[in-house]
Amino acid sequence: MRIAIIGGGVSGLVSAYKLSRDHKITIYEKSAEIGGLLSSYHRENYSIEKYYHHFFSGDTSFLNLLDELNLSHKILWLMGSTGTLFNGTLYPLTTPFEILCYPHLSMIDKFRLALFTKKTKTFDLLKLDGISAEKFLTEQLGDKIFQSFFRPLLNSKFGQNAGKVSAAWVVSRVAIRSDRGPGGERLGYLDRGFSSFIRKISERITGQGGEIRTNTPVTSISGGENGWQVNGEKYDAVIATIAPGLLRETGLDIPDIPYQGAACLTMGLVRPVTQGIYWINLYDDAPFGAVIAHTCFAPRDWYGEDIVYLASYYTGAPSPDLKEKMIKDFCIKFSIREDEITWSQMSDDPYAGPLYLAGYHEKMKKVSVPGLVLAGMFSEENYPERSIEGSVRAGLRAAGEISAMADKKGVNL
Ligand SMILES: Cc1cc2nc3c(=O)[nH]c(=O)nc-3n(C[C@H](O)[C@H](O)[C@H](O)COP(=O)(O)OP(=O)(O)OC[C@H]3O[C@@H](n4cnc5c(N)ncnc54)[C@H](O)[C@@H]3O)c2cc1C
Repeated sequence: MRIAIIGGGVSGLVSAYKLSRDHKITIYEKSAEIGGLLSSYHRENYSIEKYYHHFFSGDTSFLNLLDELNLSHKILWLMGSTGTLFNGTLYPLTTPFEILCYPHLSMIDKFRLALFTKKTKTFDLLKLDGISAEKFLTEQLGDKIFQSFFRPLLNSKFGQNAGKVSAAWVVSRVAIRSDRGPGGERLGYLDRGFSSFIRKISERITGQGGEIRTNTPVTSISGGENGWQVNGEKYDAVIATIAPGLLRETGLDIPDIPYQGAACLTMGLVRPVTQGIYWINLYDDAPFGAVIAHTCFAPRDWYGEDIVYLASYYTGAPSPDLKEKMIKDFCIKFSIREDEITWSQMSDDPYAGPLYLAGYHEKMKKVSVPGLVLAGMFSEENYPERSIEGSVRAGLRAAGEISAMADKKGVNL
């Protein structure tokens, strides 16, 4: 069959990799390079993801895929430490001792938090979907814990929408991030970054006869069960991995799902500034919600300098001078001079992930177009949080659906 795949991010690449063995596939990617949110900057001596990334021990589909691509030897399990910036003071919150010393929660609150963390794996997420995280957490843990512990996390991830986020999202987040030992959270990363994964999977696709068209946005899709036209070219089937909002722009009548944007500033620094802490949530007001010191996670030697990300989520459009504001505020809060920043680059994607607001799951179930296979970040595999693993699984499911269609029709190439 002739198959068009819209979007060259993880999901589209995985579908293409699976299908290009038996079918003629074409990936349409609007950007100059593939990888989507997992693409990288290519500096003179190293590559670094445009948006900070790591994976988890439970990401079995992604880990199996790495194995299939002969990349398992690149998997590294590293320790991610955390902290919070509260009223100008940076508090490490990784080890049990550091948590015990944290002055903005009482011993009883810390105990309640520990019990809640243990309980998160037992909650039925679908039952929590319609309830806001704020209401649920305040009922479960009280206002003090919510304000000082969860509010910064929600603000860092959802900005102005923090108050409307679903309890299912926050509970799944706490559950997945409780793989902790005394030295921090065990997180996966690839030796020298994810660019080797993107390169390898794209080589497999083209090696199997697949075509990858970069700088080629899809502007029109039409058709149905008897065949499709994408940008005027004929296909037997189409997989769309982009947001429903973007599909609507191609002329398709599809229910919308709200997404949020992410602006991520990556900086090279001459020295470390986060006291060795990888991930810092901000309680204090700032034009960024989190500081991610990548070289407190991955070895600094790979880069020859410190790498720090500043992340900000938004709806609509980011402010035009966001980069300057971020740098200025970061320099003040982390006591570093602007001339100690060796380089900086901002990436910004208005479709960086669905907004998991209360009631999301019901909305998501209604998103479909007859005959079109959907594998975007809003799909079931990415509920209640989008991830590399979710996109791998969505890509595999989409490829499976197309293979089943081909079997039914009794066709391949
Ligand atoms: C700041 C940030 C940090 C993250 N950190 C992690 C992490 O640590 N761990 C983790 O597991 N996940 C993380 N994620 C999520 C992860 O990056 C995504 O879930 C995953 O990469 C999404 O892949 P995708 O293929 O579904 O979508 P995308 O990567 O969005 O790919 C879609 C592609 O479609 C293209 N496109 C859009 N419109 C068109 C069009 N009209 N025509 C053609 N092409 C089009 C886009 O350019 C893009 O390349 C993070 C995301 C962000 C934003």
